[in-house]
Amino acid sequence: MNDKKPLALQFIRGVGPKRAEALASAGLLTASDMLRYFPRSYIDRNTVVTLAELAQSLRRDTLFSNDSSKLSAEFSVKNEITVVARIKKIRENSFGGGKRSMLIISLSDESGGSADMVFFQMVNYFRVAFKEGMLVVVSGLPEFEEKYRKVLFHHPEVLRIDEEDEELYKEGKIIPKYKITQAMKNVHLSMRQIRSIVEEVIEQEIPKIKETLPSSLLKKLALPAMSEAVRLLHFPDSTDAVERARFRMKFEELFFFEIMLALRKRGVKVLERGVIIDPKSTKARLLLDNLPFELTSAQKRVIREIASDFQSGKPMNRLLQGDVGSGKTLVALFGMLMAIDSGYQTLLMAPTEILAEQHYHTLKNFLDGSGIEIVQLIGGQKAKMRREIKEKIVTGQANIIIGTHALFSGNSTDVSRTVDYHKVGLIVVDEQHRFGVMQRAKLREMGIQSHSTDKTSTMPISPHILVMSATPIPRTLSMTVYGDLDISVIDQMPIGRKSIKTQVVFESKLDETMEFIRSEIRRGRQAYIVYPLVEKSEKVELKSAVEHYEYLQREVFSEFKLGLLHGQMFWYEKDDAMKAFKNKEFHILVATTVVEVGIDVPNATVMLIENAERFGLSQLHQLRGRVGRGGEQSYCFLATKDHFRFLLGKKEQDLSERKASIIRLKTMEETTDGFKIAEVDMKLRGPGDVMGTRQSGLPDFEFTDLVRDFEVIEIAKQEAFALIDADPHLRKPEHEETRIEFLRQYAGEKGFFDVA
Ligand code: ADP
Ligand code: MG
Repeated sequence: MNDKKPLALQFIRGVGPKRAEALASAGLLTASDMLRYFPRSYIDRNTVVTLAELAQSLRRDTLFSNDSSKLSAEFSVKNEITVVARIKKIRENSFGGGKRSMLIISLSDESGGSADMVFFQMVNYFRVAFKEGMLVVVSGLPEFEEKYRKVLFHHPEVLRIDEEDEELYKEGKIIPKYKITQAMKNVHLSMRQIRSIVEEVIEQEIPKIKETLPSSLLKKLALPAMSEAVRLLHFPDSTDAVERARFRMKFEELFFFEIMLALRKRGVKVLERGVIIDPKSTKARLLLDNLPFELTSAQKRVIREIASDFQSGKPMNRLLQGDVGSGKTLVALFGMLMAIDSGYQTLLMAPTEILAEQHYHTLKNFLDGSGIEIVQLIGGQKAKMRREIKEKIVTGQANIIIGTHALFSGNSTDVSRTVDYHKVGLIVVDEQHRFGVMQRAKLREMGIQSHSTDKTSTMPISPHILVMSATPIPRTLSMTVYGDLDISVIDQMPIGRKSIKTQVVFESKLDETMEFIRSEIRRGRQAYIVYPLVEKSEKVELKSAVEHYEYLQREVFSEFKLGLLHGQMFWYEKDDAMKAFKNKEFHILVATTVVEVGIDVPNATVMLIENAERFGLSQLHQLRGRVGRGGEQSYCFLATKDHFRFLLGKKEQDLSERKASIIRLKTMEETTDGFKIAEVDMKLRGPGDVMGTRQSGLPDFEFTDLVRDFEVIEIAKQEAFALIDADPHLRKPEHEETRIEFLRQYAGEKGFFDVA
């Protein structure tokens, strides 16, 4: 937007210096800032939740009710609920021996329902601020007080609807709801006043708004112009108009973000030459013919996708998503064999040494007698051995190099500086979620170096990169965050894999679970028992692995052998423990979350997770993935406190945290589908937390909801990529404003591309 002649707010009718200051503290300095101060939501008589409805939905949502459809209803409780109601009665109660007082404000609406607002703080302020008969908009996390059978809002946000707005509300008009900060309240700036300030300036400001989207796009998608959208957001004449305007704003946010991704992707593809790998590989053929099982059709499809990238002449940048146990490693191995047959070295990176080791053994097994040389780069190797390995790597004698991230891309103490690779054709990265854009760039750089003796072209030769993720990311997220990657999905489990039976158990009934574990072990199976912490912490009394390992061995399972695995063991101790478990040297592995990643013991069929409410959803899912890896029916028990049966929480914070725990456990019971679980996780924690926003580079979108706005994301991505295809430097005159807006938003990324 253009602010050549910024209009200071102070001079607008009804503002003045004090209010201008309050507005400034919210970042609102000019008229054009006011225009961008969009309503957070709208009050629409037709869609507002009534108090009767609210009471009903809260009453229903008792814990572990067998009605699973309530899950979605519970989510809304995590979010704020807004009601419009009239103040019926204001009461003040004193407590604490008359020293303190609380304000109880009863609300009612036309539905016949009622609710109470309760204020413990600023009682004096609220006592005068509210009057009986006032119409108010109340937003907050409501709870249902069982004892009094009442809906309660503790310290909700309350906005008064003045007479004028009440008229609008009665007429069924849509009233925009602005965020009113405390500073604004202090100078008596209400929603109504914010609206009149916007009203004051809009006619003068709207002509200054530049259209940032190409007009052909506006026409094609029937989007309102930016100026029109701004007007509709502030002064909507219908819900439909709001939706259209919001769609445009979402599209706008996503479109520029996707342009950034499109440019980044293109930067790689245009500037670098990809290694050419022939998919017709005898080694791959041999492996396929000797597999004791059929590849799933999803695996076959992904192998084809990879094979086509290999021949394209452009470096592959592919994300392979698939649930734990869906067979990603095998798919990667096929790619590696193709690369090796075409004369290239391949790297496989694992997140931990245990996993590197496991990959090493898995691959060795698969490739037994094939003449393929696999080496491992891990910590603790003797100097002589390390030297021999490096020698094999630099000469190209080593075909597959397995190691951890640290060894390939860490700091100066690692070997990456001293290891010279030989013509790297494919880099496979397992467990991408610890791995950001920058690391990918680094990796590629390293691969390019390994071709530096190849002088057949001035263009650098870049290896293909396959990033494997066992953390299913909702499609919406992967399309945004990994928009610069191509995505393959294995959405099918190997045939015969039984879905893991999952059950929440309460601690008072844990004996029964232990008996069940005993019976499984008697049938020759093995079990995991997982605890959240290693040692008993003083603050939170969680069950610790070490303590319980001793207790369980002594008191519960004295007839069996138990092993212990936790994060504070040395890597070789962990390794020994895992190996011993795999070799059936003990029946039960007592572990902390280190057991989480990729460990493969097909004979283990039971997992008991203690204090399950403490774990994150994706963590629970990863943990559970340790069982069910063989042909046997497997079981997962999620143990939690008995009192989780009831929602007794009083404090909102507490309440929502507990609710989230319960939703997590419930979700685990209901589904084993990693993508569904990821979606719930994202709803609970927000996309930023799921991905780790900072490193994921996901912007804070004002309008876009990454869970719900799948459709817009898809369209924005398509259009942005098409635009960059057609006009890679945004040099066409009709894209001038788009280019300017892009640089305004993503100037920091400018170095990447040539659109400046
Ligand atoms: P992921 O890495 O996706 O978690 P893995 O590649 O480790 O899964 O595969 C899990 C197990 O399933 C391994 O023991 C693997 O050999 C086996 N497996 C892979 N593909 C198939 C298949 N199509 N049918 C049966 N078993 C398979
Ligand atoms: Mg794996």
